[in-house]
Amino acid sequence: MTERFTGSFTQQEPIPEAGIEAAIAVLRHGRLHRYNLAEGETSEVALLEQEFAAYTGAKYCVAVASGGYAMATALRALGVGPGDKVLSNAFTLAPVPGAIASLGATPVFVGVTEALTIDLDDLELKAAQADVLLLSHMRGHICDMDRLMAICDGAGVRVVEDCAHTMGAHWNGVASGRHGVMAAYSCQTYKHMNAGEGGLLITDDADLAARAVLLSGSYMLYERNGAVPEPEAFEAIKYQTPNISGRMDNLRAAILRPQLAGLDRQVARWNERYAVLEDGLRDTPGLQVIERPEAEHYVGSSIQFLLLDWSEGPVREVLRRCAQRGVELKWFGAAAPMGFTSKYDQWQYAEPKAMPATDRILGGILDMRVPLTFNLEDCALISRIIRSEVGAVFQSR
Ligand SMILES: *Cc1c(COP(=O)(O)O)cnc(C)c1O
Repeated sequence: MTERFTGSFTQQEPIPEAGIEAAIAVLRHGRLHRYNLAEGETSEVALLEQEFAAYTGAKYCVAVASGGYAMATALRALGVGPGDKVLSNAFTLAPVPGAIASLGATPVFVGVTEALTIDLDDLELKAAQADVLLLSHMRGHICDMDRLMAICDGAGVRVVEDCAHTMGAHWNGVASGRHGVMAAYSCQTYKHMNAGEGGLLITDDADLAARAVLLSGSYMLYERNGAVPEPEAFEAIKYQTPNISGRMDNLRAAILRPQLAGLDRQVARWNERYAVLEDGLRDTPGLQVIERPEAEHYVGSSIQFLLLDWSEGPVREVLRRCAQRGVELKWFGAAAPMGFTSKYDQWQYAEPKAMPATDRILGGILDMRVPLTFNLEDCALISRIIRSEVGAVFQSR
């Protein structure tokens, strides 16, 4: 009998009951705007900012409309502007170069390794070309952060971390997002906390925090924010900094706060599922699992593996056969963008240069979401399907 998987790769879990109740309370009182407060009230958004700052250990936090907006705001706060170059990953998703392009700046793409992390040798070569690195921890793979920071500190490059896939992750015991000068997180449906849309920005730097708050659209009501520096930090810059509205609202924050309280539990559940998938795929002929370093405490909300140096036909055959059995894999080697998946040479506004070593890796990356609606049995079944189809195609290649 041929086994088939019948679950959905895009079905999330429901919002926790506490989040639904908090959201209904916001709807009943009607004060959805973050600065619309009753006497003595602290907004849901401000409370989320306090709680997320505490969770990551950052001094300051600003909640905004999306992860992409958070990244662009971080770059703006750092003074990136039209014509500037910003280092960033060649292996990432479209909102990352998009955030750079939104400022009229241009990405300088840095390659990817077989560990699916940024190529630090390539970064070393290119570090002199820009003052800022927008570092994407793409699909939750964290590079050697100690070496990365040494390279960037040595070259005077400030690091903004894109933690869309590492909310809840750590490197050597340090929360992801706490190495760079600022970090951006996404609360979009497919990330680790689901508000539909939303973003969070953290930093320890009072000046950058004040700039980010003003930029986010504070209407000078920044004393109602949850995790902001002292008013003095705003004084010199408050009339110099444009209001580029991109705030979070109380409804989203109400949904997110109970999810933040339960995040570590969700991380453990993701990692149980990841371990079953990884075990099931290990030692499949022709397939390379991504070995995770000891220092990396990751969040297994998706899994990748490499069919390295396979040609296009057999890769497409694996995708087709797995899809036929209900297993949705994404491929980073396709010549045209597919759904959420695209790659650096398709972001033509950035005039990307050819990167053959990176093309070799991207051409082999297969990628799969791991929604928490999958149980461990589902994960075992999915890995059996992938294993048998990769095996069959590999033998007949
Ligand atoms: C989702 C995502 C973001 C931010 O996305 P938004 O949809 O704007 O919240 C940033 N980087 C990566 C790698 C992502 O996957």
